[in-house]
Amino acid sequence: METYLGIDLGGTKLLIGEVDSSGNILKYKKYDSGYFNQQSALDIIKTSLDNYIQTVGWTDKKPLGMGVGLIGRVDPEKGIWLQIDPSRTQPIPLAQELFDLYGIPCHIDNDVKSATRAERHFGFGQLSRNFIYINVGTGIAAGFVINGRQIRGSHFNAGEVGHTQVGVNIGVRCGCGRMDCVEQIAAGIGFDSCARLLKPRFETNLFISENPGERVNIKEVFDLSKKGDPLCVELVENASLALANLIMNLVRVSDPDTVVLGGGLVSDGYIHTKILEKLNANTIRFVKNGVVITKLNPDFIGLIGAGAVAMNV
Ligand SMILES: [Zn+2]
Repeated sequence: METYLGIDLGGTKLLIGEVDSSGNILKYKKYDSGYFNQQSALDIIKTSLDNYIQTVGWTDKKPLGMGVGLIGRVDPEKGIWLQIDPSRTQPIPLAQELFDLYGIPCHIDNDVKSATRAERHFGFGQLSRNFIYINVGTGIAAGFVINGRQIRGSHFNAGEVGHTQVGVNIGVRCGCGRMDCVEQIAAGIGFDSCARLLKPRFETNLFISENPGERVNIKEVFDLSKKGDPLCVELVENASLALANLIMNLVRVSDPDTVVLGGGLVSDGYIHTKILEKLNANTIRFVKNGVVITKLNPDFIGLIGAGAVAMNV
């Protein structure tokens, strides 16, 4: 049986698993990754992969290829992980290093671009050659597929749409230097920033930790919002309006026939329903397949994407 090894490195967890050529996950194991720079991330990948090989092992024989999805900018052709962000820049020839260590051909890519590949090969890409995949998780980024090709840009930095303003003005400064970037309103980091900023103006039962490193729990925000908690209703309204505006802006840019949403914040469908109420029918009239949630398992789309990277498709 021909299989591929996927490695999905997120900010807090590392998923390692084997997928078949149709993108089905055969086996996987989850590891904690913690906060890291690129060198420590490489160490975590090696230690975890050694453990995976010992404790889980291959389904049949050695996988045909290995793919890694990473945070930040990646040169997929040279196999170089360029940077996590401007303050963490330490280019590493990761694909070559992993090939030398494990003897499995290795390809790497950015995590959202990997998820977009998964969507292109195993998801809505089977229906569409012009779609946008928008990942709403800890942050926000998008993958653009235009005429069947994925857009990368001059510095592998295309699709960082989390750092655009969408007409929702709260007064949150973003790490990028601008105010009210959409990910500061509608992503995991945004719910936390906005909850802290708006807390004095709205009553709430939401637990907001004194420790700024401990973010508000999104499920708790959603549950309280459904019960009418004033702060949580405000957070959900702002986030869904921000996402609806982002989607409509992006639709005007690349004229997709499908918009696919993925990531931890949209996977339960609650925000999705609120977004749909706010879309302007005229603006999205050519999005014939709709604004939809991925059919791929949102908790594993990164791993399936890493599998697609391994296949180098
Ligand atoms: Zn920003």
